[in-house]
Amino acid sequence: MPQYVNEKTLESLAAFHGHRCPASLYGLRAGYLALELLNTERAKDHELLGIVETGNSHFANCFGDGVQYAAGTTFGKDNISKNPLGKFAFTLIQPSSKKAVRVLLRSEVLMGFMETNFFKMRKNKVPPNQLPQEDIDFVVNGVLEASDTELFSYKRMEGYPIQQKQSLFEAVICESCGEAVVTSYVVSYDGKDYCQPCANKMFIS
Ligand SMILES: [Zn+2]
Ligand SMILES: [Zn+2]
Repeated sequence: MPQYVNEKTLESLAAFHGHRCPASLYGLRAGYLALELLNTERAKDHELLGIVETGNSHFANCFGDGVQYAAGTTFGKDNISKNPLGKFAFTLIQPSSKKAVRVLLRSEVLMGFMETNFFKMRKNKVPPNQLPQEDIDFVVNGVLEASDTELFSYKRMEGYPIQQKQSLFEAVICESCGEAVVTSYVVSYDGKDYCQPCANKMFIS
């Protein structure tokens, strides 16, 4: 178990999330790893921004609760957003330094998880709180015992574009695709304005 995760952490996460599960723990560890890579502490206000790429209505939405819990980027503070791509990735951005890191759960880890009894029962619609304890323990311990590098790959980014917050009564032309974008949705990078899909093409692999 990593030193920053102890039994109290697991209990608090389960209390926040509702049950103990591997996907929330993947998120927890992704969030802590992102903080460590940016050499910063959990967000108290808006000093950090998060982007979670898990989408909607699928088996691992719990990932999003783990990243919120760990990194302090939460929907309540409005310092996290969802980019619903159906990927198990979390990007943490530090606006003051424009540094960011995208942490991605390794595909082989996810595919291995999908072979477990836990996953198969969840796929058969057994609710998390009705799963046999030993099957929960097996997957949870698997997440806790793995190293950061076994679980995740990551990419550091410098000069990360920070989204402008401006009046909704203005629009500009995206430098890349030429489509007009309301300024509050524009991403500025290197003195130029881009719409979000064009900015994503440049900054998210
Ligand atoms: Zn869960
Ligand atoms: Zn564009």
